[in-house]
Amino acid sequence: MRACRQRKSERKNERPALIPEEGKDTIPWMEAVVLGTADGLARPGRNHAGILLWDKNQSLLLDCGAPVEQWLVGEAMDVGVPSRIWLSHMHSDHVAHFPILVQTLWLRHRKTPLEVSAPAGAVAGLKKLLEHCLLLPEILPFPIHWTGIVPGRKDCWGEWELTAFGTTHLCSGEARFGKYFPTICFCCCGVLVEWPSGSCVYSADLGCASDLRPVVSEPVRILFCELAHVEPADLFRELLGRPVEEVWLIHYPDQWVGQEENLQKIASEAGFTGKVRLAREGMRISL
Ligand SMILES: [Zn+2]
Repeated sequence: MRACRQRKSERKNERPALIPEEGKDTIPWMEAVVLGTADGLARPGRNHAGILLWDKNQSLLLDCGAPVEQWLVGEAMDVGVPSRIWLSHMHSDHVAHFPILVQTLWLRHRKTPLEVSAPAGAVAGLKKLLEHCLLLPEILPFPIHWTGIVPGRKDCWGEWELTAFGTTHLCSGEARFGKYFPTICFCCCGVLVEWPSGSCVYSADLGCASDLRPVVSEPVRILFCELAHVEPADLFRELLGRPVEEVWLIHYPDQWVGQEENLQKIASEAGFTGKVRLAREGMRISL
């Protein structure tokens, strides 16, 4: 039933819809597709940040640093994917493919609105970015509906609830440069995504492991957590006793490539009893 799991040869002539018509009310599923795991320095085979979450009704792209437009076209995805984009912060490895994706959706004749959530202070700049890329609202065949992310606010979206939480990733940058660049947004927000049968957390970029505290006190099926700004031992100590079933590591330096067993060992030594997995480009994870 999952459109994305059809063989490529089957997709050529029959573009799969996001919402499978037959049995769509009886088969619950939720999946994450890993589009990028690099830590800010992309290399062959490792893309910048991007995870696509989707169920039978809607899809959410978490950050737009990976060449998502290539993946969507390569997989012959319906042009309605993604229905929404979550931009955690303005570092280029999280937003650089946003205008390219918008252009691709335009040239693929998308008509349905695109929801874009970004830190409230970044929305005006992102609109300007699209304008400077000549992606003017008057030209695009679909409207963009913008939402300013505010930490702590819960946003009901279909059957999902999105709760933003702020991280301290850009606090030192703001202290150093904020007064010189008053219009620049130094906010970074992860998100807790809840749906009727589960939940996951996207860490975005962290300043320290304790940034996760507001979203790991209640049961979490999967925590997608970055490893570029926290040490694994600090992360797993922070998660000790927290009801997190699995941690999928993303945004990690090359030194951890192929080190899944080692990372699980570090977690066990810290007392964390959940599963630890290392995400890789192209992985599909059932939620
Ligand atoms: Zn960052």
